[in-house]
Amino acid sequence: MSEEQIKEEVRRKASLHPEQFFPVDTLKSKGFSRHQCSKCQKYFWTVHKQDVCGDPACSGGFRFIGHPTKKPLDYIEVWKEFARIHEKLGYTPIKRYPVIARWNPTTDFTIASIAAFQPYVVSGEISPPANPLVIPQTCLRFSDTDNVGITGHHVAFVMLGQHGFFSPKEYNVNKYISDHLTWLHEGMGLEMSELTVHEDVWSGGGNLGPCMEFFSKGLEISNQVYMQYEITPSGLKELNIKVLDMGQGQERVAWFTQGKASMYECSMPLVKKLREITGVEYDEEFMRKFTPLSPYLNVGEVKDINAAWKFVAEQLKMDVKALKEKILPLAALYAVAEHARALLFAITDGGLPSNVGGMYNLRVILRRALGFIDKYKWKISLPEICRWHADYLQPLFPELLENLDEVSQILEVEKKKYVATMQKTQIILPRLLEKKLSTDDLITIYDSQGIAPELIRDEAAKIGRDIYVPDNFYSLVAARHEIKEQETATEKEEKLPIEHCVPPTKALYFDDYEMASFDAKVLEIIDNNVVLDQSAFYPTSGGQVSDRGTLDGAKVVDVFKQGPYIVHVLESKPKFHAGDKVHGDIEFSRRLQLAQHHTATHIVNAAARKVLGAHVNQASAKKDVDKAHLDITHYDSLTDEETARIEEEANKIVKQGLKTKLTFMPREEAEKSFGMAIYQGGAVPGKQLRIVSIPGVDVEACGGTHLKNTLDVGKIKILKTSKVKDGIVRIVFAAAKAADKVLEVEKNIVDKAAKLLNCDMHQVPGRAAELFELWKRARKAAQKKQPLPDTILKSTTAFAGDILAKTAEVLQTQPEVVVKTIERFLADIEKFRSQ
Ligand SMILES: [Zn+2]
Ligand SMILES: [Zn+2]
Repeated sequence: MSEEQIKEEVRRKASLHPEQFFPVDTLKSKGFSRHQCSKCQKYFWTVHKQDVCGDPACSGGFRFIGHPTKKPLDYIEVWKEFARIHEKLGYTPIKRYPVIARWNPTTDFTIASIAAFQPYVVSGEISPPANPLVIPQTCLRFSDTDNVGITGHHVAFVMLGQHGFFSPKEYNVNKYISDHLTWLHEGMGLEMSELTVHEDVWSGGGNLGPCMEFFSKGLEISNQVYMQYEITPSGLKELNIKVLDMGQGQERVAWFTQGKASMYECSMPLVKKLREITGVEYDEEFMRKFTPLSPYLNVGEVKDINAAWKFVAEQLKMDVKALKEKILPLAALYAVAEHARALLFAITDGGLPSNVGGMYNLRVILRRALGFIDKYKWKISLPEICRWHADYLQPLFPELLENLDEVSQILEVEKKKYVATMQKTQIILPRLLEKKLSTDDLITIYDSQGIAPELIRDEAAKIGRDIYVPDNFYSLVAARHEIKEQETATEKEEKLPIEHCVPPTKALYFDDYEMASFDAKVLEIIDNNVVLDQSAFYPTSGGQVSDRGTLDGAKVVDVFKQGPYIVHVLESKPKFHAGDKVHGDIEFSRRLQLAQHHTATHIVNAAARKVLGAHVNQASAKKDVDKAHLDITHYDSLTDEETARIEEEANKIVKQGLKTKLTFMPREEAEKSFGMAIYQGGAVPGKQLRIVSIPGVDVEACGGTHLKNTLDVGKIKILKTSKVKDGIVRIVFAAAKAADKVLEVEKNIVDKAAKLLNCDMHQVPGRAAELFELWKRARKAAQKKQPLPDTILKSTTAFAGDILAKTAEVLQTQPEVVVKTIERFLADIEKFRSQ
């Protein structure tokens, strides 16, 4: 049976025996009785007898507009009241989680309040931060981007979550609905007689549960899910931890209780200010008529959007053109305000607009907002709107004020990129318009060149060409980018048949990176692969390459992890057998260098964050013996000055001699103490996390081998930085002996160059520049058969920074070929002279 069929089956059973699935006792005690909708046949509960259910389609559309409840709540008050009333009922209010879901391996963004607790709290692996709890969880969803401004959809919205995680014995649906009804009555000012409560069944992620949907005056206001079952091949199985999952949009509560015509006027009061600046008009009377019709304009659900506009215009007794002129500028202004707020949350929480993975969605909404500002020539800026949002939201989310300058800077850089794209578009557009363009082509062009389809359509119209742009274009783009970029796999593809080995290999390398020898028992040998009961060999993982050494004298050439086993790959089939005791020796100089590079990686990450800003996070990393690299999220290439400052900061941390702390601790404790930024290396599974902390500098969940003191890193030398992908910068560096080696090689090159240029080493860049100029003039003179200029180099300009890098830059070449280049110039000049 498919999930949908199982759901249908549960629905059928529930309709026959509601008392087994729904909180019938509470509903009855509050005066509700059960009815069936004469239109859609759904079962529902109301206080007074009612023929139809609460769905707007059955009950005749929105009826709350113009009718505020007894307790109208402004946006900020909504959470305050929600928290106050639930606290009284025994719930603990907690802070929101980031919108970037670093802790969750399956998604980039937090899409619902329950997502804050997925997967490990919901699975019962770790305990929740409080139980039961309420949370104002900001969520990001991009599937309705094209509707934002018109239908009431938001990309970023706050889901008020009422959650509990209980054993089957403690689980009590009658209490949960009773608490919710208390909130609806005391908090939102609703009478029970104003409610219609639907019976339904929810499923998702392999789980299932009955749910109650709450409607009032034609609007769905909340949904309470009782997640109690797991869907298995043999049918439904009761969960060990049953979950209460009630979610309600904070925007919707403000809108509904105030009974205003436009939801956006309630969810973002600052749009009033934006209207004043831009002169866009808001007509409450007109919007009262338009808003109930706006769902017809949902581009994700409507087949022919032009026909839908025509239909809505007819209902309003006006023509389409006049309707669009009235609605579209206002909708665009709402979208600008909404997208700015979404970007403020996303960037504050560590997201960065780019072409990569899910972060692409951030660029889409940013460009959508900039496109509207351009189109209407409004004198407003996104950074400023973000500032107003942060000020307004301060009572709920004070953290939004903390990184405002950085948010502004990132938005400015993105705007520059957008402007550059627009200019490029003007140049290449004529060529694009030569061929027929499908929607697929338009998506590809948008992806590769950043050219918006509306622009292509408008330009094409000027030359009489008609290009079709689907109304859900940006959702189609988002869908193409939905597959989250997978972190580089650390496990090998082909599997060895070792699953029967028990117990799993005990890893000995966590506590002491200096452990270089150990004894162990052989559990399994397959060809030249050996599994032991315990091992100090570090397997390739977390970007750190594996150790080398010997097992009873036999050379270990690779070590990898398969499930809970560490597999040692020997040079040839070993002489020992399963059951034997063996002695392992680890090549310590290699181990030391790798530990130095790994600890240095954490230090460089922290240094980059200090220099470039809080948006810097690790995207990936690799720690090898001769060098290491760290990929960070950053919106631009690094300047020489920034690189120098990162290196300086990193070495400062090294010299501070900070003691590293390596501990295992429960996941919930680690998240509580250090926040979600610990997942720099990506989401990690398990109840216990290995936490590597450099006090005051950096805390990460990391399984690597680390030094005991930052002094043992010796020194850090940044070799190169480059932009590897949009929004990702690679920093290549070396530490300790590897850095010495690099410095030695560099010093050799500089020495040789100094000898060739006949100067002291600090004068090398100046003389190299002089030589380059001379070579150019000599070549020209030789071509024109004129006398050659003087060839004596005279520059005495001394350079204080990285001499080799500067010289390479001056000669427009790579550092390793600096000597060859100088030799060639000198030889060429001699050649020109003899011609
Ligand atoms: Zn109905
Ligand atoms: Zn690490």
